[in-house]
Amino acid sequence: MHKGERQIAYKITHETAVKIENIAIENIYFEMTAGEENLVVCVRAYSRQVARCPFCGKHCPGYDSASKLRRWRSLDLGSTRVFIEAFAPRVKCPEHGVVVAKVPWARHNSDYTSDFEMAVAWLTLHATATDVSEFFRIKWDTVGSIASRVQQTLETAQPSRFDDLREIGIDEKSYKKGHKYMMVIVNHKTGALIWAAKGHGKEVLTRFFKELAKEQCAKIKLVSADGARWIADCIREYCPNAERCIDPFHVVAWANDALDEVRKSAVRTAKQQAADDIKAERSKKKKIRKLRSMLC
Ligand SMILES: [Zn+2]
Repeated sequence: MHKGERQIAYKITHETAVKIENIAIENIYFEMTAGEENLVVCVRAYSRQVARCPFCGKHCPGYDSASKLRRWRSLDLGSTRVFIEAFAPRVKCPEHGVVVAKVPWARHNSDYTSDFEMAVAWLTLHATATDVSEFFRIKWDTVGSIASRVQQTLETAQPSRFDDLREIGIDEKSYKKGHKYMMVIVNHKTGALIWAAKGHGKEVLTRFFKELAKEQCAKIKLVSADGARWIADCIREYCPNAERCIDPFHVVAWANDALDEVRKSAVRTAKQQAADDIKAERSKKKKIRKLRSMLC
């Protein structure tokens, strides 16, 4: 790469493509792999960021020398794949043992940068895993593991979903064209989905309540659900202070079903009445014809 090109690549990479704090870029070069061009950005973390445990973040003594280079896939620069390259030494944490030291640009045990994983996870919310894997040029099964890592990170950064639950809603949702079911539970106060699991029925709902502490269950004041008896049983058993109410969706659905029944019954009655009227009219006409023939 010419000096000018290198300066431009450095500037673009540093300011737009690889917005990673606390690192120094030491070199940038292009390479050809399987007929495609990759941009490799060689970096090192600032001294205050090195030798940290990936779990607790504490400074730890080094365990081995940084002899092996490792790569992390970063967000593409246009159509060019970008890789972050750096040494990955191990440290010895008193609490977590011998682990690969934390790096500022990626999660522990991942071959992708945090920004790359966040982009994949975001698109996963809007497209199928196959579309995401094609768009980001990663393996299909990698999409799921990336989404799991991002979910764990977001969950640990947020307060517990089960804290301060007051009003919750329980419902079941079918998928695979109605062949399979999943149970979903929402917090009515925040509108957030707080729990979901495959299957349906009392056993699945019991699993949810068992994940809550007794104090958390006691704080629940209102549970909305459909009219299933096993839901009422669970609420009675695990939420002693909760009042059960029927959610508006099911109330409207039941009202529509009842109206349908009334409408069908009215149509049946009207049809029967019409048939009876025709029969009576025919009988009347028959009698008149008979009387006329007798008079003649
Ligand atoms: Zn640690």
